[in-house]
Amino acid sequence: MTIQKSEGIVLRRQDLRETSLILTLYTRDFGKIKGIARGVRGSRAQYGGGALELFALDEIVFYERKTSDIYTVSQCDLLEYFNPLRADLAKLSYATYLIELLDSVTTLADKNDEVFDLLLNSLRLMAGESSAKRAARIFEIKLLNLLGLMPSLDLCVSCGKRPDTGFKFSLQHGGLVCKNCLESDRAALSILPGTAKFIEHIRSLPFEKVERIKVTPQVGRELESILRKFLDYQIERRLKTVEFLREIER
Ligand SMILES: [Zn+2]
Repeated sequence: MTIQKSEGIVLRRQDLRETSLILTLYTRDFGKIKGIARGVRGSRAQYGGGALELFALDEIVFYERKTSDIYTVSQCDLLEYFNPLRADLAKLSYATYLIELLDSVTTLADKNDEVFDLLLNSLRLMAGESSAKRAARIFEIKLLNLLGLMPSLDLCVSCGKRPDTGFKFSLQHGGLVCKNCLESDRAALSILPGTAKFIEHIRSLPFEKVERIKVTPQVGRELESILRKFLDYQIERRLKTVEFLREIER
């Protein structure tokens, strides 16, 4: 029995019988894992102080079980609770959206410490002064990039030439189609040059620098809608939090 230790962020919690939980965590050293935490209803010190709440950052101790790829989580020590995210409905909803999105696009045991850092930095950004919506857009773009799902926004996906004007965005082909290639996807979406440029900019800059980039309200709205459609197309289902975010922003 090998005992492992890692930092992890709680993505999901499911009840298992009366006193146990199945936790899904995104860990720095092992990627996404599932683990059973037992005896969580009491005030047992090994899962202290909000450590089992969604998007809490914990140091966890866990070990393999003989018969299953679900680990046993024997200890969770809370490292960061993100209080400001829990005190504000919009921030809470966006933080919940980040973990739901990450859970839906990752598989178990696929370690990626850059993805771990992106989630952690995005939660911290949201917990600060920054707009939660803006932090969510940055998270979406950076996540697509780290997972190799980034749409092509500099060259036409059909002919490979650099489009100048009159291009559109194809969900099906995963990027821009130039005006000569519009026939290849009649359902391609309109996209402003500023939106394509903004996405490319966020993708290429280090996380510490992205917060300062300004966008016009028009680009901001289009960005949200295009990323939403692109992510839905990639995930092939609607996330629960997306509808909820719509409701609270109405
Ligand atoms: Zn083309």
